[in-house]
Amino acid sequence: MIVALVVVAAVVGLVLVGAVAWREHRHFVDAEESRRRDDEMHRRHEDEVAESETRLRLSLDAITQGVVMADDAGNVLYRNSFARQFTEARHGEALVEAAVVELLAEAARGRAVEREVELFGPPRRCMLVSAMPLALEGRDYGSVALIDDITEPQRLDAMRRDFVANISHELRTPMGALSLLAETLAGERDTEVASRLAMRVQAEAIRLSDIMDDLLELSRIESDESSERAPVIVQHVIGDALSRLKPIADEKQVPIETALPAFDLIVQADRRQLTSAVFNLLDNAVKYSDAHRPVRVSAELSGDCVELEVRDQGYGIPLRHQRRVFERFYQVDRSRERTDGGVGLGLAIVSHVATNHGGEVRVDSTEGDGSTFTLVLPVSDDDLTEQEESQDFQPIGAQA
Ligand code: ADP
Repeated sequence: MIVALVVVAAVVGLVLVGAVAWREHRHFVDAEESRRRDDEMHRRHEDEVAESETRLRLSLDAITQGVVMADDAGNVLYRNSFARQFTEARHGEALVEAAVVELLAEAARGRAVEREVELFGPPRRCMLVSAMPLALEGRDYGSVALIDDITEPQRLDAMRRDFVANISHELRTPMGALSLLAETLAGERDTEVASRLAMRVQAEAIRLSDIMDDLLELSRIESDESSERAPVIVQHVIGDALSRLKPIADEKQVPIETALPAFDLIVQADRRQLTSAVFNLLDNAVKYSDAHRPVRVSAELSGDCVELEVRDQGYGIPLRHQRRVFERFYQVDRSRERTDGGVGLGLAIVSHVATNHGGEVRVDSTEGDGSTFTLVLPVSDDDLTEQEESQDFQPIGAQA
């Protein structure tokens, strides 16, 4: 009996020990499992944080503005790639970096500050460095500095100011002349003198109207509004421009020669704009040449482009002016141009037309020998419209 009891007690004991061991084991396994899950979640969380950080870094590197972050003592913690260019040792860059460090320190003291830094280049650039404290719900997160390249906005602003000043100047001169002429005319009794004065009034009025036409044309072409592109035959455009130019060239006794291929040169273009560009090139060639010095207009296929060339044997353009003649209102010799009637908008029109059509305009000139302007436009593979195809072209002037 006692033996039986001992055996039962032993068995019960064993079972209890086994159960406890099993429970321990389960606990261990469960704890292991939960730790593994925690680890996994932690790793995933870390991966997500690293991924967002990379995404943030790449995004900050993609922007064209410098971003520099600092802790609340003003120590730099991060620079995006735009800002990193200023940590190089070159003098100009070092000026920006110095401004960044200084302004971050001020921002760390709770003040938003900014400063313009001029880099003398070349190229000359201007940077706006601004810094501000970073704070949220009463807690400080250091400060951030931003670097903006304001060269282009500043240039545009200066251009806008120049433009208004130039227009006012260009308009004031003929307006002043008109007013003076009208005053003199009012008191003039001699009919012959009065008629001469009236002719001068007319000339000044024409000049005013030409300036207004050029301004309107330039603004239309600059905004490229209501521009309609279609395949256009370059020879037709040259023909249109030559018909407009003929009376001017005849009066000045400047012969015009053409050298154009027998096959159609086709470009995708706004015909009105293109005609205006070609006319301006031809008009200049005639305007800045003496009588009997021929002007030659030619066009040819060169690779994927059509090259339209206007060559004259006129006064030429000094090298130092050649880069600037495409600017609005730029004139090489204001006194000469005034008598020739220009205002400095023609080549700005040509340059805009070239850009609007995915092309370019080049100048090659020697003072005293003449100039060659080349308008390069991408050739078009599109079919011609019926209207374009049916138009006749009669080149004016001698075929070279
Ligand atoms: P403008 O109305 O004065 O002719 P443009 O913009 O057409 O203005 O030309 C700018 C300047 O470039 C002119 O004032 C002139 O000095 C110079 N220029 C342009 N084309 C020629 C040329 N074919 N020969 C000599 N000078 C030229």
